[in-house]
Amino acid sequence: MVLVINLGVIKLRYSLRTKLTLSYILIVVIVVGLISLVANTYIKTEFQDYVMNRQEKQTNEIIGLIKQQYQADQVFDIAYLERLGMNALENGMIIEILDVDGSLIWAASHHNSGLCEAMMLSMQKNMYSYHPNWDGEYEEKTYPILDNNIKIGTLTTGYIGPYYFNNEELVFIKAFNKLFVMIGIISLVLAFALGIIMSLRISNPLNKIVKKALLLSEGRYKEKLDDISNTKEIEMLIKTINKLSEALENKEKLRKQLTQDVAHELRTPLTSVQGHMEAMIDGIWEMNTVRLSSCYDEIIRMRRLIGSIEDLSGVENENVLLHKEEFDLSKLILRILNNYESECFAKNMRVTYVAKQVFIYADPDKISQVFNNLISNAVKYLDEDGGELHIDVIDHQGKVEISIKDTGIGISESDLNLIFERFYRVDKSRNHKTGGIGVGLTITKAIIEAHGGTITATSKLDEGTAFTIMIPNRSC
Ligand code: ADP
Repeated sequence: MVLVINLGVIKLRYSLRTKLTLSYILIVVIVVGLISLVANTYIKTEFQDYVMNRQEKQTNEIIGLIKQQYQADQVFDIAYLERLGMNALENGMIIEILDVDGSLIWAASHHNSGLCEAMMLSMQKNMYSYHPNWDGEYEEKTYPILDNNIKIGTLTTGYIGPYYFNNEELVFIKAFNKLFVMIGIISLVLAFALGIIMSLRISNPLNKIVKKALLLSEGRYKEKLDDISNTKEIEMLIKTINKLSEALENKEKLRKQLTQDVAHELRTPLTSVQGHMEAMIDGIWEMNTVRLSSCYDEIIRMRRLIGSIEDLSGVENENVLLHKEEFDLSKLILRILNNYESECFAKNMRVTYVAKQVFIYADPDKISQVFNNLISNAVKYLDEDGGELHIDVIDHQGKVEISIKDTGIGISESDLNLIFERFYRVDKSRNHKTGGIGVGLTITKAIIEAHGGTITATSKLDEGTAFTIMIPNRSC
């Protein structure tokens, strides 16, 4: 238990162990208490009935025996009555027998008054030990003794009323109560042990999860949580924490990678500009239009690079915001092809595209960026002596397949796996000429994936390259 003092308000915080153990103990106390209460009430009333019946039966038996003896001898046998009376006394009943005239024949109190008193006291003690507030007292009942409906005498019975427990009955009741106390104690011990075991099984993995969350907050993502619980919810929590850790690790990697890549990409043009400038300032190089233009080109390249980095961080974010709408893809492709008309003409490039209306549900600006990147690459990486660009769109059920094939310089097999990587350029010197900085395909792939689609590339050196895009269409 931890005591937290919070701006004057005292909040009691309990550990899971305390809470679980206390609740188990509470359940046991309530259940055992209820059962013993119900059982005791039930037994009390049943036992009372049983004891009263027993007294009634005993009285009837005595009357029957007296009648039998009288019928046999036609006179009361004092010795027999004495045996009967002493037997009854042992069972807690004081009897007195009168003849038909009311004259006393035999009375237990006369025969042995000391024993009668001792018996009554013992019965009273029994009742007080069963119930400290017992308020019974000595009672007497009188019964006529009849022989064929002719009164032959009177029997008076005296006992501790309204009912009493003899020694055996009291032992039974006490044993019964002891049993409940034992059950209660054993259940409490079990509840305590179970509470501790259960709380350990829940709190141990939770403590590990807390430690892991602390590590995450310190930026330590490597260690994974083992599947240490068979509780569904805890297992889900562990999986979620592991996923969170992976996602954070990836984000962190991406951030570091991007910083490194950007620093690396900016260093080269800046060093070149710095070198040019220093040489001109020191008078080693004469300042002329050609040298200034070269510096200017590098600055333009850096600007383009920064613009691309902005685009890249915009689309690489997992939660990239897409403004989706339904539009005709063929119109978009035709518009972009139009923009490249003069470049294609200059390179003697033949473009084939049979425009067919295909509606897709996507972000038109982002999809334009995809086609711009792919078509500009096809034009850029085409040798001067002409070639072909072939665009095909097939509307499959639920998906649209787009292929963009060119007969350009192609990409070698070893480079093909890397072209979607950030800042990857196949031929650095050539790229410098074409102005490529190696992020166009990375952006393209990120946009397609953000739309739930895929992009793949096949290529052969000196023969050409084909990009295939699969994207969910309007039904999504
Ligand atoms: P860049 O801005 O350098 O063009 P990209 O990410 O668009 O960057 O392309 C990465 C590399 O893949 C390019 O440097 C180029 O070498 C190669 N590439 C991309 N498209 C084609 C293509 N159609 N034909 C040949 N090579 C290509």
